[in-house]
Amino acid sequence: MTRLALIAHDDEKPEMIDLAESYESLLATFDLVGTGTTGKRVAEETDLDVELKESGPIGGDAQIAAEVAEDRLDGIIFLRDPLTAQPHEPDISALLRICDVHDTPLATTRTSAEYVLDGLAADADRME
Ligand code: PGA
Repeated sequence: MTRLALIAHDDEKPEMIDLAESYESLLATFDLVGTGTTGKRVAEETDLDVELKESGPIGGDAQIAAEVAEDRLDGIIFLRDPLTAQPHEPDISALLRICDVHDTPLATTRTSAEYVLDGLAADADRME
Protein backbone atom coordinates (compact mmCIF):
# COMPACT_ATOMS: atom_id res chain seq x y z
CA MET A 1 0.00 0.00 0.00
CA THR A 2 1.20 3.52 -0.78
CA ARG A 3 2.43 5.23 2.41
CA LEU A 4 2.33 9.03 2.45
CA ALA A 5 3.37 11.57 5.11
CA LEU A 6 1.53 14.86 5.67
CA ILE A 7 3.18 17.86 7.33
CA ALA A 8 2.08 21.49 7.27
CA HIS A 9 3.35 24.56 9.02
CA ASP A 10 0.68 26.51 10.88
CA ASP A 11 -0.03 29.02 8.09
CA GLU A 12 -0.38 26.17 5.63
CA LYS A 13 -2.69 23.92 7.66
CA PRO A 14 -5.87 25.28 6.02
CA GLU A 15 -4.31 24.51 2.61
CA MET A 16 -3.50 20.96 3.77
CA ILE A 17 -7.09 20.41 4.92
CA ASP A 18 -8.39 21.72 1.60
CA LEU A 19 -6.00 19.45 -0.30
CA ALA A 20 -6.97 16.42 1.81
CA GLU A 21 -10.65 17.12 1.16
CA SER A 22 -10.06 17.49 -2.58
CA TYR A 23 -8.13 14.20 -2.75
CA GLU A 24 -10.03 12.37 -0.03
CA SER A 25 -11.11 9.39 -2.14
CA LEU A 26 -7.51 8.79 -3.29
CA LEU A 27 -6.03 9.38 0.18
CA ALA A 28 -8.50 6.87 1.64
CA THR A 29 -6.63 4.19 -0.34
CA PHE A 30 -3.25 5.27 1.13
CA ASP A 31 -1.61 4.56 4.45
CA LEU A 32 -1.30 8.07 5.95
CA VAL A 33 1.07 9.32 8.61
CA GLY A 34 1.34 12.91 9.83
CA THR A 35 3.05 15.18 12.27
CA GLY A 36 0.96 15.62 15.42
CA THR A 37 -1.10 18.71 14.78
CA THR A 38 -1.37 18.38 11.02
CA GLY A 39 -2.37 14.72 11.26
CA LYS A 40 -4.90 15.38 14.01
CA ARG A 41 -6.56 18.17 12.05
CA VAL A 42 -6.73 16.13 8.83
CA ALA A 43 -8.22 13.21 10.76
CA GLU A 44 -10.77 15.46 12.50
CA GLU A 45 -11.80 17.43 9.44
CA THR A 46 -12.05 14.54 6.95
CA ASP A 47 -12.99 10.86 7.22
CA LEU A 48 -9.34 9.84 6.76
CA ASP A 49 -7.32 7.79 9.26
CA VAL A 50 -3.88 9.27 9.99
CA GLU A 51 -1.17 7.65 12.09
CA LEU A 52 0.07 10.44 14.35
CA LYS A 53 3.73 11.16 15.02
CA GLU A 54 4.93 13.79 17.49
CA SER A 55 4.28 17.43 16.70
CA GLY A 56 6.94 18.83 14.32
CA PRO A 57 8.78 21.04 16.81
CA ILE A 58 9.19 18.18 19.27
CA GLY A 59 10.44 15.57 16.82
CA GLY A 60 7.71 14.66 14.32
CA ASP A 61 9.79 15.69 11.30
CA ALA A 62 12.70 13.63 12.61
CA GLN A 63 10.40 10.59 13.03
CA ILE A 64 9.22 10.97 9.44
CA ALA A 65 12.82 11.38 8.27
CA ALA A 66 13.60 8.06 9.99
CA GLU A 67 10.86 6.37 7.94
CA VAL A 68 12.39 7.80 4.76
CA ALA A 69 15.78 6.40 5.79
CA GLU A 70 14.13 2.98 6.16
CA ASP A 71 12.46 3.33 2.73
CA ARG A 72 9.04 3.03 4.34
CA LEU A 73 7.52 6.12 2.69
CA ASP A 74 6.45 6.56 -0.94
CA GLY A 75 6.05 10.32 -0.69
CA ILE A 76 5.77 13.36 1.55
CA ILE A 77 3.58 16.43 1.31
CA PHE A 78 5.21 19.10 3.40
CA LEU A 79 3.43 22.44 3.00
CA ARG A 80 6.01 24.84 4.36
CA ASP A 81 5.63 28.46 5.38
CA PRO A 82 8.50 30.08 3.48
CA LEU A 83 8.16 33.39 5.33
CA THR A 84 8.40 32.35 8.98
CA ALA A 85 11.47 30.95 10.71
CA GLN A 86 10.71 27.62 12.40
CA PRO A 87 12.25 26.59 15.72
CA HIS A 88 12.90 23.10 14.33
CA GLU A 89 14.68 24.20 11.13
CA PRO A 90 17.53 21.67 11.65
CA ASP A 91 15.03 18.79 11.67
CA ILE A 92 13.33 20.18 8.54
CA SER A 93 16.66 20.44 6.71
CA ALA A 94 17.48 16.88 7.73
CA LEU A 95 14.16 15.66 6.37
CA LEU A 96 14.66 17.43 3.03
CA ARG A 97 18.17 16.02 2.77
CA ILE A 98 17.19 12.43 3.50
CA CYS A 99 14.41 12.66 0.88
CA ASP A 100 17.07 13.69 -1.66
CA VAL A 101 19.32 10.83 -0.58
CA HIS A 102 16.53 8.25 -1.00
CA ASP A 103 14.85 9.89 -4.02
CA THR A 104 11.63 10.03 -2.04
CA PRO A 105 9.22 12.47 -3.72
CA LEU A 106 8.59 15.51 -1.54
CA ALA A 107 6.16 18.29 -2.42
CA THR A 108 6.30 21.63 -0.62
CA THR A 109 3.54 23.55 -2.41
CA ARG A 110 -0.09 22.93 -3.37
CA THR A 111 0.62 22.42 -7.06
CA SER A 112 3.60 20.13 -6.55
CA ALA A 113 1.54 18.21 -3.96
CA GLU A 114 -1.15 17.61 -6.58
CA TYR A 115 1.48 16.35 -9.02
CA VAL A 116 2.93 13.98 -6.42
CA LEU A 117 -0.55 12.69 -5.54
CA ASP A 118 -1.39 12.17 -9.21
CA GLY A 119 1.94 10.37 -9.69
CA LEU A 120 1.42 8.12 -6.67
CA ALA A 121 -2.09 7.31 -7.93
CA ALA A 122 -0.68 6.35 -11.34
CA ASP A 123 2.01 4.18 -9.69
CA ALA A 124 -0.60 2.46 -7.52
CA ASP A 125 -2.71 1.74 -10.63
CA ARG A 126 0.29 0.29 -12.44
CA MET A 127 1.03 -2.05 -9.51
CA GLU A 128 -2.50 -3.53 -9.58
P1 PGA B 1 2.63 19.91 13.43
O1 PGA B 1 4.11 19.94 12.91
O2 PGA B 1 1.82 19.19 12.40
O3 PGA B 1 2.65 19.15 14.71
O4 PGA B 1 2.19 21.33 13.60
C1 PGA B 1 4.38 20.49 11.65
C2 PGA B 1 5.79 20.98 11.56
O5 PGA B 1 6.70 20.20 11.36
O6 PGA B 1 5.99 22.20 11.72
